[in-house]
Amino acid sequence: MSHFPAFFDLKGKAAIVVGATPVALERVRLALAAGATVRVFADALSSEGRLLVASPGVAWLPGAPAIDDFERAALAFVATGDCDRDRAAAETARAAGVPVNVADQPELCDFIMPAIIRRGDVAIGISTGGASPALARFIREAIERVLPARLGDLARFAARLRQRIKDLFPTPETRRDVWERLIDGPCGEAVLAGRPAEARRHLLELLNRVEQPRETGVVHIVGAGPGDPDLLTVRALQLLQKADVIFYDELIGPEILDQARREAERVYVGKQKGRHGQEQPDINDALLAAARAGKRVVRLKGGDPFIFGRGGEEAEYLERHGLTAIVVPGVTAALGCAAAVGIPLTHRDYASSVTFISGHGRDGAPLADWNGLARKDRTIVVYMGLTAAATVSERLIAAGLSPATPAAIVARGTRRDQRLSLGTLGTLPDLALRQSDGGPALIIVGEVAALAKSNLAENINLEAAA
Ligand code: SAH
Repeated sequence: MSHFPAFFDLKGKAAIVVGATPVALERVRLALAAGATVRVFADALSSEGRLLVASPGVAWLPGAPAIDDFERAALAFVATGDCDRDRAAAETARAAGVPVNVADQPELCDFIMPAIIRRGDVAIGISTGGASPALARFIREAIERVLPARLGDLARFAARLRQRIKDLFPTPETRRDVWERLIDGPCGEAVLAGRPAEARRHLLELLNRVEQPRETGVVHIVGAGPGDPDLLTVRALQLLQKADVIFYDELIGPEILDQARREAERVYVGKQKGRHGQEQPDINDALLAAARAGKRVVRLKGGDPFIFGRGGEEAEYLERHGLTAIVVPGVTAALGCAAAVGIPLTHRDYASSVTFISGHGRDGAPLADWNGLARKDRTIVVYMGLTAAATVSERLIAAGLSPATPAAIVARGTRRDQRLSLGTLGTLPDLALRQSDGGPALIIVGEVAALAKSNLAENINLEAAA
């Protein structure tokens, strides 16, 4: 290790900034955020700089600083953009006994600036010992991706509790156990999900039951998006990397599961060839049992859990049994597929609304108000619609839509083997029949379907569109 990592307490102390370059201004902001008062030495200021030195706690002094100007300063930052002036300022600071950082000149520095990740009072500094700021930024981005945005909230929550927990639990061992359960359990999860009332409930439960084994109680119902792993949300990725057990179904491809923690147990609860999928009550019970056994449970669902995903039923069941269900939204198939084939679902000239319907109602046939749906300026997206394509086509035509209305079928949208078929409402049953090569498929009906990037289509039915 070439540099010693430490965090300075600058509250109420003075920091000196020499220069008014963008880097210098960034140092001013950082010092202010840490509670310092800042004296800026610079000849001229940009409009941004003038705004900044007008903030409380900042003073602007023209010219270069003299040795007296550093008196009682805690730190000095130099970034004038001019090597000679940088060197002179650094020497003055050092002569005054104030540790100094000079931007981009490690040989002039007493301390170097880390790449910083901030979440409220949580700060992570990354140093490569001055070897490569770009490498430090690369590391920062990798860490940023897996850190929850509300980490600062969790720090504040913990800070408020600190004294109380000290009073309640005099022995350090119990205290450590309480803290671990608090931060790495349902209480912490609820804070990170932005649900303070639930966090307090879990906290009370925890404080009342400390002598008992680790309590549990959160299931994350996570949308995995349409298939491309890059379309996972940041939160989905974080949860996959923490999970002990992942329940998934046929919509989840191996590319998505590859993103999960290697040690996580993977449980398939979807349909199997020739067999029906597991019944929903069995899945519900399995989720409940895993959560009660103290595992971090992720229920992974294709697209978004609340769009034709029965996520609502699972959440309701878990909550009825005293667990907390936290739903993480995902990119639903309609949005993923439409983007992947270049169909804008709404368009100022062609479609002022879009409706998602299921081709498969509770009793098999699609449940829809066909007369209400059939409008020239509406896009209709049919999920689970392949077997219902003939019905969809027939009913929409009977309700008044022209058979020449453009229609598209996107199979395995956003995946590597995605396939687009283009035709019309009239030819839709035919198009659907020819889609027999498996995987999920979605039907898009409406004028906007004609805007699909036909270079992405492998199976274009042009005669009907002409
Ligand atoms: N909750 C999911 C939908 C589940 S219903 C979501 O929000 O996307 C299952 C249906 O979704 C499939 O029958 C198919 O119509 C559609 N679907 C899901 N993923 C798809 C994909 N990658 N390409 C095309 N259709 C998809």
